[in-house]
Amino acid sequence: MSHWLLIVVATPAHSAIAGPLTYRSAVPLAAGTLVRVPFGRREVLGVVWDALPDCGDMAEKSIRDIAGALDGLDPLPATWRQLVTFTAGYYQRSLGEVALAALPPQLRDLTGLQLARRLKRPASTTEGTPDITKLIALSIQQACAIAQFDAETSEKQRPALLFGATGSGKTEVYLRAAAKVLAEHPEAQVLVMVPEINLTPQLQARFEARFAHLGRARVVPMHSGLTPAQRLKGWLAAHSGQARLVLGTRMAVFASMPNLRLIVVDEEHDPSYKQQEGARYSARDLAVYRARLETTAACETTRVEAKICRVLLGSATPSLESWQGTITGRYQRLDMEERIGAPTLPTAGGSLPPEGAAAPAARQSRFCGPGLNSPDTGMAVVPATQILAAAGQLPTVRRVDMNHQPRHCVIAPPLLAAIGQRVARGEQSMIFLNRRGYAPVLACLDCDWKSDCPHCSAYRVFHKIDRTLRCHHCGFTERVPRACPSCGNVDIAPVGRGTERLEEHLAELLADVRRPDGEPVRIARIDADSTRLKGSLESQLARVHAGEVDVLVGTQMIAKGHDFRHITLVAAVNPDGALFSSDFRAPERLFSLLMQAAGRAGRDARHSAASEMWVQTFHPDHPLFEALKRHDYPAFANRELAERQAAGLAPFGFSALIRADAKTQDVAQGFLNAAAHAAQLQQLPGHEHVTPYPAVPMTIQRVADVERAQMLVESPSRKALQGFLAAWQPVLFETRRQADFKSLVRWAIDVDPLAI
Ligand code: ADP
Ligand code: ZN
Ligand code: ZN
Repeated sequence: MSHWLLIVVATPAHSAIAGPLTYRSAVPLAAGTLVRVPFGRREVLGVVWDALPDCGDMAEKSIRDIAGALDGLDPLPATWRQLVTFTAGYYQRSLGEVALAALPPQLRDLTGLQLARRLKRPASTTEGTPDITKLIALSIQQACAIAQFDAETSEKQRPALLFGATGSGKTEVYLRAAAKVLAEHPEAQVLVMVPEINLTPQLQARFEARFAHLGRARVVPMHSGLTPAQRLKGWLAAHSGQARLVLGTRMAVFASMPNLRLIVVDEEHDPSYKQQEGARYSARDLAVYRARLETTAACETTRVEAKICRVLLGSATPSLESWQGTITGRYQRLDMEERIGAPTLPTAGGSLPPEGAAAPAARQSRFCGPGLNSPDTGMAVVPATQILAAAGQLPTVRRVDMNHQPRHCVIAPPLLAAIGQRVARGEQSMIFLNRRGYAPVLACLDCDWKSDCPHCSAYRVFHKIDRTLRCHHCGFTERVPRACPSCGNVDIAPVGRGTERLEEHLAELLADVRRPDGEPVRIARIDADSTRLKGSLESQLARVHAGEVDVLVGTQMIAKGHDFRHITLVAAVNPDGALFSSDFRAPERLFSLLMQAAGRAGRDARHSAASEMWVQTFHPDHPLFEALKRHDYPAFANRELAERQAAGLAPFGFSALIRADAKTQDVAQGFLNAAAHAAQLQQLPGHEHVTPYPAVPMTIQRVADVERAQMLVESPSRKALQGFLAAWQPVLFETRRQADFKSLVRWAIDVDPLAI
């Protein structure tokens, strides 16, 4: 008697085999069981997806036997398989690719014996009770946010969006929400996601400290910076239920967690939640979907208890998709408008903020549900205003109109003076410019030679430190030539400015400024170049925190997340580019970046009242900067949404990009246009609601000697677009096989693309 199983293995995305394969097993195996199976000449890891109806001993030669099951591992939960199935379908990839990519790589290479050794459990840790004496008292708005989150009564337990200013204390809300779930259900698990690896250590330390009573190894990290062995260990801990809390980057959305009851997505607007290769999933969107999957109603007959999994998204500048969700009521909105220690009470009659400071949009008393005296902790709630001295305002935003500054000046005189004053007072400044290297182009002053990359349609960037020309797209690097390669002229000069040059320039401009101790100014730079070596980012950040740096120059890397305490001035040197970009999401990204950057200033209570955010711009009256000045995200978002609605753009319309790479543009575009033409001829499902645009070259059309083209496909209906894409896939495969497109290198679909 043998059992037939449908098993999913890692299949190349573009192979003919997309679905599960049939294998035979001597014993019945539950869906979700991990197995090793022969595949071609190799033996590979697979996941049992389903059992076929009993086929008796029917001899079928082509059906092979499985090599064995990974004993000792519980099957992957049904919700995990549902999530993988959904991801593969929605993002138009093969089931096998998504399923196996969602498992730790080391699992593929382990023998059953090795696995058994890993699974030897550490002496089970006993759980203590939380030490509530160490808890900080919640601010009123934190208590309100938590009470509202808990009071969500809608049957579906809507996803919640914590709309909290930078420094409003969102992390404490996540901690309390997690603590409550973990305390209420002895087996419950919580998933916390952050956008970037280098933000995990800080947060991990906070979660570990807070949940120390759960015992060792109950909080596990999950991100690509771990060694394969660490990843496997964390994954096994989550899968077995041992880990109560998983903290990770976007990949963690696929963690196998049998008892998941809360998912937190911090900085939910961050573009890093979107995977940029393979299955191009949005981890935020999948988190929302997964929470719904993990929520099950009680069942009388099987006596299964109801299980609720909530999702809590948090941001000071939510994605417009999520913001729109709160407007339509699909999402619950929780507001925390003020920084911890803001000088005004949330009730009417607080002292007025000083001239120019942020005036919170709504100061009327808001709904504040039950539970002000936080029953889960037994702690009274004290307004934060009573804990910290008056402080905690958002920085004043100053726009410098570059039309009225000396021509070609990089740092306008008033900004330079302001930085000088900070240095003299012993305070820190942060200057950011989104372009690394010394200069984006090197050019000959005599002829028209420029530092093009021979392999890309882009310039190579001049890096003065090692005197190289480096292509930021393909990596091609050469020594800077002594003379113009085209005419021999020795006068070749940098054009434009990157962080390296800005650092050098600032050192010259501030040469005469003295610190309070009489010493010269200390300038540091943090960007992808200065942090290439392992550990160098940490050590540089530590120098900033220790006050060993007066002026910090960097790219957006420094604008995010880091809790710098002593920075009182933040400046964006040249943010205008995004205002008129062809990418409709560019303003959204700029606004959130500037708000994040502003959020770095004045975090220390003593300095916050005098902290400033400077923006150098040729368009000081642009509504984006007007909204920034008032720290008014809702104004920005609502205006942006109105524009998008008029244009049928996300979140009001849906889109996908089909990308094609080939040796020539003709082939890349030809492939896309031919596939679109075929779709039209075949009247694919949904086609009447779907608009494919003609193929165009990508902005940087050639990278590493490959020509790149893309085709935008739009629809007002998500469902129509989904149906169309699913039906179009086989057509694309078919088109790929035509002789004309032999030289096509690759193609891929990006659903809900972030950059267009
Ligand atoms: P956000 O993530 O909203 O930008 P954080 O969670 O980093 O803000 O909190 C900002 C700072 O305020 C942190 O240093 C945190 O320890 C502190 N903080 C948070 N809640 C409270 C509170 N209730 N009382 C005092 N300090 C708090
Ligand atoms: Zn020349
Ligand atoms: Zn290149």
